[in-house]
Amino acid sequence: MHVVSSANHSRKYGGITKTMNILAGNWKMNLGPEQGAVLARALTEVAPSLNKTELWIAPPFLTVASVAEVTTGTPLRVGVQNIHWEESGAFTGEISTSMARESGCSFAIVGHSERRHVFGEDDNMIRSRALAALSGELTTIFCIGETLESREAGETFRILEEQLKGILPEVSDSARHLVFAYEPVWAIGTGKVASIKEIEEAHGAITELWKSHHPTLDCPPILYGGSVNPDNFEGIIALPNVSGGLVGGASLSEEKFRKLAEISEAS
Ligand code: PEP
Repeated sequence: MHVVSSANHSRKYGGITKTMNILAGNWKMNLGPEQGAVLARALTEVAPSLNKTELWIAPPFLTVASVAEVTTGTPLRVGVQNIHWEESGAFTGEISTSMARESGCSFAIVGHSERRHVFGEDDNMIRSRALAALSGELTTIFCIGETLESREAGETFRILEEQLKGILPEVSDSARHLVFAYEPVWAIGTGKVASIKEIEEAHGAITELWKSHHPTLDCPPILYGGSVNPDNFEGIIALPNVSGGLVGGASLSEEKFRKLAEISEAS
């Protein structure tokens, strides 16, 4: 039985339990306040019976409040899909860490592939977002991953290094609040999942990069993301260097997300 340590679990800062898998649902621009609350409520029925899996969900900003309302006091963690580095000001369309926390969020996704490739966010901007999230007491899922073009050019590891090099030297104190997500761009929302070997190698490379900066600190958990579904998750979560999944499409279905949680439990 999962023990809920506080009635306000969803606001807890950090608290990554290394022995737990993390199943993080990125709802992207789906589910308004009403529909989001319905799915979140259904997941509150699932979460308490999980022994080795934490369920995290990142609704659209406007849906956060209704989801936080139904998940407060449950083991589910609620987060935002992006975060700004300033506390307030003339930044149309953005939200700050204190706003996210006040709304019941305890984590933020930063550097998602759609932010990088659809909205043109660069490594500097993503670095600022991540450092603000960490110092603003939000657990940070820092997403990295190569395009198909980079993979085919044999540049996967160089790209991962490039994406990580801005934050690796800066995060020793806050490392316990950091989570990496390896999400190959070509696997996100395409139905094309990376092979077990590709995932293992990429996660291994991330671990090595971490160790080269922080030889005495454990590498943060590394999630895999990219077309995860109940048919392909078993082999992925069985890998020793995979600590869970960042899930887009399948996280919108209660049935699929529950099945992913069951697979994680059986891993
Ligand atoms: C994601 O949004 O991070 C993602 C991996 O999406 P999908 O699972 O739909 O590929």
